[in-house]
Amino acid sequence: MKKALKTFSDPQKLQKWCAARREAGARIALVPTMGYLHEGHLSLIAAARKKGADEIVVSVFVNPVQFGPNEDYEKYPRDEKADLAKCRAAGATAVFFPTPANMYLDGYSTYITEETLAAGLCGARRPGHFRGVCTVVAKLFNIVHPHLAVFGQKDFQQAAVIKRMVRDLNFDVQIVVSPIVREPSGLARSSRNTYLSDDERTRAVALSQALRLAKADVAAEGSVPWRACRAKIVKMLEKAGLTVDYVEAVDSETLAPVKTLAKGVAVLLAVWCGKTRLIDNIEL
Ligand code: AMP
Repeated sequence: MKKALKTFSDPQKLQKWCAARREAGARIALVPTMGYLHEGHLSLIAAARKKGADEIVVSVFVNPVQFGPNEDYEKYPRDEKADLAKCRAAGATAVFFPTPANMYLDGYSTYITEETLAAGLCGARRPGHFRGVCTVVAKLFNIVHPHLAVFGQKDFQQAAVIKRMVRDLNFDVQIVVSPIVREPSGLARSSRNTYLSDDERTRAVALSQALRLAKADVAAEGSVPWRACRAKIVKMLEKAGLTVDYVEAVDSETLAPVKTLAKGVAVLLAVWCGKTRLIDNIEL
């Protein structure tokens, strides 16, 4: 039988409930999100279930600290009612909807900075972004004290940074990274896809097409010079009318740039599709 879905907005109440459940022997999973849930988020809930979690806590919080001053914090899509219904249907057992005021009390002044993996890629283009992500995730870990936490491969760099933070700060949490869920067109599902016009949505298909190109090159030739492949990818993205923010090939563990595409390399890209910034990646 499905359990009733509990909702919390007060961090202390959630913390108390989680502690009691842990004490009673429940295995607790955390799925951190910014809401406006889609199939990608729901796949993380499914992954938590598969890992044997008894309680699956989904946090829905548009975290102001991870947005830059000129980013989309204000207009980020929100729909608590729909999120609640989706969490219920997907088998979550608790949803946490905190407010910025109860997550960041007056005079809040403590932040977590990962200094290596967060430096490049999105970290270089979005100063302070991963500081905000690490801080909120560390807070969620302290509130929920989960046995495991599930993140999406969609945010490849984020998953790497969180894994490093967990290792470096001795968090007692197993990190599970779940594959990218795509629309039938290949476009990676994202809450920000809602910003796209029909025309932009069509053009955005080039992101996943470009990544498949890299994969096909490696499948055909084993290892491929990145310079040549990158040029093809950039051409494809630009032909679709997208503006490249970055296209990089990195070691999938260290995120250090590589010169040759081969197994164990990840290709990551960020592009502007009109006013919307989209990211995607593939691990070879
Ligand atoms: P967000 O709400 O965009 O902050 O995402 C919350 C979590 O869902 C992160 O761990 C994301 O990586 C993950 N996620 C978002 N989109 C997808 C997707 N298309 N496939 C898999 N995971 C995703």
